[in-house]
Amino acid sequence: MVEELNNQSAEKRQKEDERFMRLALQEAEEAGRLDEVPVGAVIVFQGSVIARGHNLCERLRDFTAHAEMQAFTSASEFLGGKFLDKCTLYVTLEPCPMCAGAGFWTRIGRIVYGAQDLKRGYKRWGVLQAKEGHGGQVGENGLLHPKTEVHSGVLEEECAQLLKEFFIKKRNKLQN
Ligand SMILES: [Zn+2]
Repeated sequence: MVEELNNQSAEKRQKEDERFMRLALQEAEEAGRLDEVPVGAVIVFQGSVIARGHNLCERLRDFTAHAEMQAFTSASEFLGGKFLDKCTLYVTLEPCPMCAGAGFWTRIGRIVYGAQDLKRGYKRWGVLQAKEGHGGQVGENGLLHPKTEVHSGVLEEECAQLLKEFFIKKRNKLQN
């Protein structure tokens, strides 16, 4: 019975994660339309979206204008406080070290991301730190707040595909 309930709530959570990731994907598509690297994010508090963001580095000529940074700022503004420990960040791509660091400061409760970023993602840095023995057992959550829960791979294919298509288009444009 308990197991059945657990399964039900896990299933419910997965459905909810996919629903919010679709909204993050819409944000990513919007970035793509603006010729920005298509990454999108939404922040959810008590079942509602309170902040949205998409990558705007080109438009703002600012490398801190990642989707997550925009979403963190507007979520804090919405809640009237710096801490986001009761919020979930949905983002289409694994956060970079800068955004993971901002996530640390906001104490974001949960991060759900779609595609992996093996080169620039934050996870790699946690692993490197652990290998070099800095801070003892850093592990792959390294740059995040220890209480932040992470769930990856939600709509991974779709999130990755959007990025892939963007870079193929970019490359073709450069060649022509
Ligand atoms: Zn970032």
